[in-house]
Amino acid sequence: MRVHEIAKELGVISKDILAELRKQNVEVKSHMSRLDDATVKLLRSHFQPDASSEALSEEKTTPEAKPEPEKEISSVEVQDAGQTAPQEEDQEDDAKIIKVRGGLTVKELSEKLSLRPNQIVAELMALNVFASINDRLDIKVAKKIAEKHDFQVEQEKRGTEKPIPAREKEEEEEKDAPENLLPRNPVITFLGHVDHGKTSLLDKIRNTAVVDGESGGITQHIGAYTVDVGGQKITFLDTPGHAAFTAMRARGADLTDIAVIIIAADDGIMPQTKEAIMHAKAAGVAMIIAINKIDLPGANVDQVKQQLQAEGLAPEDWGGDLICASVSAQTGEGVEHFLEMILLQAEMLELRANPHRRAKGYVIEGQMESGSGPTANLLITHGTLNVGDVMLCGRYWGRVRALLSDHGIKLKSAGPATPVKCLGLSGVPEAGAAFKICVNEKFARSTAQMEAEQAKDEQLTAPMKASLENLFEHMEESQKLELKIILKADTQGSIEAISHSLNEIKSDKVSLNIILGATGNITENDVMLASASSAVILGFHTAKVSGVDSLARHEGVEIRLHQIIYEIIDQVQNAMLGLLSIEYKENLVATADVKQVFTHGKVKKIAGCLVTSGTITPKLKARVKRNDEVLYEGKIASLKHFQDEVAEMKEAQECGVQLDGFSDLAEGDILEFYEMEELKKVL
Ligand code: GDP
Repeated sequence: MRVHEIAKELGVISKDILAELRKQNVEVKSHMSRLDDATVKLLRSHFQPDASSEALSEEKTTPEAKPEPEKEISSVEVQDAGQTAPQEEDQEDDAKIIKVRGGLTVKELSEKLSLRPNQIVAELMALNVFASINDRLDIKVAKKIAEKHDFQVEQEKRGTEKPIPAREKEEEEEKDAPENLLPRNPVITFLGHVDHGKTSLLDKIRNTAVVDGESGGITQHIGAYTVDVGGQKITFLDTPGHAAFTAMRARGADLTDIAVIIIAADDGIMPQTKEAIMHAKAAGVAMIIAINKIDLPGANVDQVKQQLQAEGLAPEDWGGDLICASVSAQTGEGVEHFLEMILLQAEMLELRANPHRRAKGYVIEGQMESGSGPTANLLITHGTLNVGDVMLCGRYWGRVRALLSDHGIKLKSAGPATPVKCLGLSGVPEAGAAFKICVNEKFARSTAQMEAEQAKDEQLTAPMKASLENLFEHMEESQKLELKIILKADTQGSIEAISHSLNEIKSDKVSLNIILGATGNITENDVMLASASSAVILGFHTAKVSGVDSLARHEGVEIRLHQIIYEIIDQVQNAMLGLLSIEYKENLVATADVKQVFTHGKVKKIAGCLVTSGTITPKLKARVKRNDEVLYEGKIASLKHFQDEVAEMKEAQECGVQLDGFSDLAEGDILEFYEMEELKKVL
């Protein structure tokens, strides 16, 4: 029986068992150490002296608890235990490492730690992570919990079991030499308020291209299309609106170079326009404004520009750097100029890609088509895609059977920033999935299979992407502490009041970024924006629309609803503090000189000391110094006055100090005893 098992049986913590055993002079290493029957019996009688009858009836049922003549623990047995230690230690080391692939649920973690799931749930709550038993945990959160119980979590990297063939490795490391980078088309997404003309303008541009004599015309809807403007090409993504835009980003597919915000000249900036602007800003993409419907009598371009100015976006002709183009999707007026403006903006972005490498990119959409099987509309971001290439796309793979352009033309190959329809994959991939070309068919197949298994694993629940707690981890990676917030409230006044108060929280270490502040209920769009930007959603006097909860769970986005402003401020302040790492200060409490070193048992060394300053207590940390060199820092294993364990030793007293795991003591060493004081975090 192991220490932790008997502890569980007796309803005490392993530490108490270990302490008792040490008191009894039984050498044990940790809560994973095995105990012999006699020791178990001894512990039972010590911790449950009156429950012996109950224990006895139970004992009969367990083979290891067969009534046996009570043995006295002798020092001989202690030696025996010591002899078996090396083997035991190996087991311990293995037993204390939890290997994880992909992630693990609360339940799985509890099983590995031999704890009740409810205890884990409670410990998670203390970390501000609210999870149920079947929720999948962020690996970093799981690590924190495991460490509390002296376990380590090791993440097995994808593909550890199957070594990547050398050729594939080479490919992974393939870097584009600057001379191979050639200019590429810009990729454009249209965003804006509903009915302001996104679809009409996309259609107009597509049809204008046909009128302009493009061979064949854009006949295929493949999720994106390319138009030629005086020899230069522009690629438009066909699904307008920030919902699709942000959903793609949340999947990791940052395809857009320029977001065009469409504003109807007769309607001006509307709530969704503001939202779109914030989504584009959050994505960090370039922005162009298309002021549409200029053919209408109520059109007022200047008023729109004024509103933009009020939003902090200064139009170019008003001294700012925001390109604004006036268009009519109805009449086609200004469309050509608008396309030129896109090219101008693209030129400033200096977009480049290497066409001379194996292709990679993202799925815009996937579908099952009768006659063709699974088809995927792709946007190539790097390299050139060829018919016959072996493609890997998440859990699907296949040899590219055919490529179709947006003009319905069969292609042999397609280069960067080009949309194509691809036939030949083994299944229908999801929008936003990344694809790449592999050298080796076997590798593609086995990786796809592995991905499929992993996807099944991960289907349980999504990882907790952005909780107030683990945001810290994201931040650490980017070396910048920033708390991103999406604020939804009942009125504009509330937003202003809350934003004002939040901005009052002054901090040199953590910056606060309200990436979206808008009125209304919390929608799926908000969740996708939070997911794409690793933000937390705060609601004030507002509700969640149906479907938001399950999407938030799926995306791992945290939503907190509040009715009182100061609650929000408190929570944000705490979250900001939570981002800061804990700082400690060392307080030197006592010092002692080692006058003599005694040996106790085979290896244990005890320092016979004279306390030269302060008061030593067993909880303090100890440091051994020899000629100013620090030999050891750690815990005190025992503090004795002659044979007695004592609670404190004062200046000028003599005592015996044994250190935890350190026996290389010598006469003349100096011992320092200190405590670490946790400093109050300040923003
Ligand atoms: P979306 O919701 O932003 O995609 O907007 P739509 O493209 O569906 O357009 C909404 C409505 O506005 C439709 O009835 C269009 O015919 C109309 N519309 C779009 N652009 C123009 C325009 O430039 N002029 C006029 N007069 N109507 C337009």
